[in-house]
Amino acid sequence: MVAADPHQAEPIPSEARAEIDRLLQSGDLFRYTAEEGAPVSLLEKEFAELMGAKYALAVSSCSAALFLALKSLRLPRDARVLIPGFTFAAVPSSIVHAECIPVLCEVGPDYRIDIDDFSARLQKDISAVIVSHMRGHTSDMGAIMSLCNDMGIPVIEDAAHSLGTLWRGKKIGTIGRVGCFSFQSYKMINAGEGGIMVSDDADLIAQAVIMSGAYEHNWRKHAGLEAAFACWQNRLPLYNLRMSNLSAAVIRPQLPHLKRRVRDGKIGHDHVAELLETSPWISVPVPLEGEARAPDSIQFNLVELSDDQVHDFVAHAGARGVKVQVFGLSKNNARAFWNWQFLPHQEELPQTRKMLMRACDVRLPVHLIEAEREAIADALLSAIEATMNENQKAYGT
Ligand SMILES: *Cc1c(COP(=O)(O)O)cnc(C)c1O
Repeated sequence: MVAADPHQAEPIPSEARAEIDRLLQSGDLFRYTAEEGAPVSLLEKEFAELMGAKYALAVSSCSAALFLALKSLRLPRDARVLIPGFTFAAVPSSIVHAECIPVLCEVGPDYRIDIDDFSARLQKDISAVIVSHMRGHTSDMGAIMSLCNDMGIPVIEDAAHSLGTLWRGKKIGTIGRVGCFSFQSYKMINAGEGGIMVSDDADLIAQAVIMSGAYEHNWRKHAGLEAAFACWQNRLPLYNLRMSNLSAAVIRPQLPHLKRRVRDGKIGHDHVAELLETSPWISVPVPLEGEARAPDSIQFNLVELSDDQVHDFVAHAGARGVKVQVFGLSKNNARAFWNWQFLPHQEELPQTRKMLMRACDVRLPVHLIEAEREAIADALLSAIEATMNENQKAYGT
């Protein structure tokens, strides 16, 4: 059995307590009450600096950020938005919410966008792209940006799970027109819920600020955007997707820990990957050249196993204390595209489906110590051994 509970989150830094206490004492929870220095405003300033972006807007979730990004691109109703076929259901949902149509493209066995398929589908009346860096796996941003720039198609980066990841030295989330991040509990920074978008595009951010709920002249509390705001005053609907000061108070003291978390997450991931690679039945896809990852979970493919064997492996791993999710085999999984029955039309993506049926997902929080990581790897290796031994007994005689 694995001693560590890999679902246990890292404690929130204790500095958060004094600030939360101050907020509770004063009741000052709404981001626009204070004249200046509200925790949400400070978070936006600090996050923009951290990412090297001109502007940041904190909102209620990454899904809200994706929705506002699409609205701020002023896409007409029924505009087609291209996304990878391997992502979280919230991504096509944000497109449906913005009254646009999600179009899916194939993803390879390495969980990254299949550039040939992406390029072919991009030719078919696409108005915008959301690149979802699923589980932090970065697709070829060089190829994607050059194809989209050539056609004048804006790129939104869904960097929900990619905070701290680099592509050729550039921060993921700052490569496209706008980048969206999540502070949901399973992400690198945990506030339970929350999201933030970054962009250098003043006009886009000004629209998103107003639509996020900066009604009347609350936009004045977002510095450096006066000219852009003047043109949008009273012209946009207010969706009220703001972040509360309490969330910002939980997030801000975690920002200085990001560097360490990214470093530890990478060390932990690569350690477990190396151990798992010793099995002929397990393959851990390598990152693309130029990608420096920031993982807090591990994904690997089961090689040459039948569906029954995959189910057996999951059961054996569970009995050894490690929860494995196979994206395509666990019931009602929100990352399997055939479960997105709210889409206007269902598409088949044979290559992505094949990957989802064999791709395993195991949480690997960055705070695990070496012995805990080894115990997880041992449990997985012993589970695959048990699965394949049973198989030999059943079929070998
Ligand atoms: C978590 C996640 C989201 C959704 O983030 P929320 O803040 O929960 O809305 C979107 N995309 C990806 C890739 C995610 O991992």
